[in-house]
Amino acid sequence: MTSPIDEPRPFKFTSPTSVAEAVALWHEKPGDAMYIAGGGDVIDIVKRHHARPSTLLDLKRIPALRGIEVDIAASQPSITIGALTTLQELAENENIRRYLPALATAASRVATPQIRNIGTIGGNLLQENRCPYFRGPWHCYRHGGMHCYAHHGINREHAIFEGDRCYVVTPSDIAPVVVAGNALIHVEGKDGPRTIDAEDLFMPASQNLMRMHVLDDGEVLTAVEFRVREPAAPRERDPKDLGIRGTISPIPVDKRFPSVFIKYAMRNSFDFALANVAVFLDREGHRVHRCRIALGGVAATPYRPREAERLVAGSILDDDLIQAAGRAATQGAEPLDLNAYKVSLVEKLVVEALQELNR
Ligand SMILES: Cc1cc2nc3c(=O)[nH]c(=O)nc-3n(C[C@H](O)[C@H](O)[C@H](O)COP(=O)(O)OP(=O)(O)OC[C@H]3O[C@@H](n4cnc5c(N)ncnc54)[C@H](O)[C@@H]3O)c2cc1C
Ligand code: SF4
Repeated sequence: MTSPIDEPRPFKFTSPTSVAEAVALWHEKPGDAMYIAGGGDVIDIVKRHHARPSTLLDLKRIPALRGIEVDIAASQPSITIGALTTLQELAENENIRRYLPALATAASRVATPQIRNIGTIGGNLLQENRCPYFRGPWHCYRHGGMHCYAHHGINREHAIFEGDRCYVVTPSDIAPVVVAGNALIHVEGKDGPRTIDAEDLFMPASQNLMRMHVLDDGEVLTAVEFRVREPAAPRERDPKDLGIRGTISPIPVDKRFPSVFIKYAMRNSFDFALANVAVFLDREGHRVHRCRIALGGVAATPYRPREAERLVAGSILDDDLIQAAGRAATQGAEPLDLNAYKVSLVEKLVVEALQELNR
């Protein structure tokens, strides 16, 4: 059956009430059903016929996918976020803002209030790429074709790192935070539950051009877990409040868990990132014990500038080191014709993020 452009093929809408039921329904007709959470991306994909599911399996009626569990008192303190948690809930939650300020900031910087109210953390991490050629009628590599139209086309928003025939970037503002924050991704499929390191959730272009993530067919992302750091004495030199920016009023964050997220977009109020950065530091006194940096909008997966991380880890941050880390973050960049600006943008974002954590 053919359908006009912008009109989805008819589909059934089914609402399972448990993850096991959702997985079983998916496997009744493998490849023919598609999960839907907020629907912000699914509906666009289905309307454009990039996917033609006969059934949409609505995850929103599954109570086990909801809620934010905070276990700070445990020997391994953690915060576990159900996959259906909306971006607005993340931005507003007091514990997320206190212990994971980078996550609260990233959520508050996604699109508009309407989109934050429907978009879920699970759907945000698993959303498709936004390359305009992919979303349009071009039969490029990612659609099984033999050409990348962006490579010598309009590529202002494309990758500067790790492009490999395809130059899409991860569009998710939450993705660099889960990678820099070394989160665990809980998933469940027909073989039961398993856990993936956040860094391994995203698919490099060099491994598979057709997918943005590594979930097996029919697997449900159930939760995202952050292991927050063991409490340490707060730093003495602590004049500035690392508050949340954007529409949410700032509250003091716990300086034992320093993290920051900064996004640069064409229109700051409502746009996907041209580049963004999340940085998590683990400090002992003034010395940085560990440092994880992840950049979004510059590669198909959140990109870790490891040379910059190496410079920062084990050091006491000062301005020279921060500037050196910014420069190191751009090592290996291979800009396309129209996106060389991203190289200096990455440098500035990393410098700004480290300066903010060092105030
Ligand atoms: C106009 C516009 C602007 C936007 N701007 C931004 C932005 O600036 N920054 C940003 O980060 N995002 C942005 N987004 C994306 C948005 O924030 C949502 O994250 C996105 O719509 C997907 O979330 P969702 O819950 O709606 O997922 P859905 O659209 O329901 O699902 C997305 C994908 O994930 C799968 N899926 C969803 N949940 C699960 C699960 N639990 N297990 C397995 N599979 C699952 C679906 O099958 C689908 O493939 C924008 C979206 C729009 C439409
Ligand atoms: S960047 Fe990737 S998705 Fe975009 S046109 Fe090239 S191959 Fe297609």
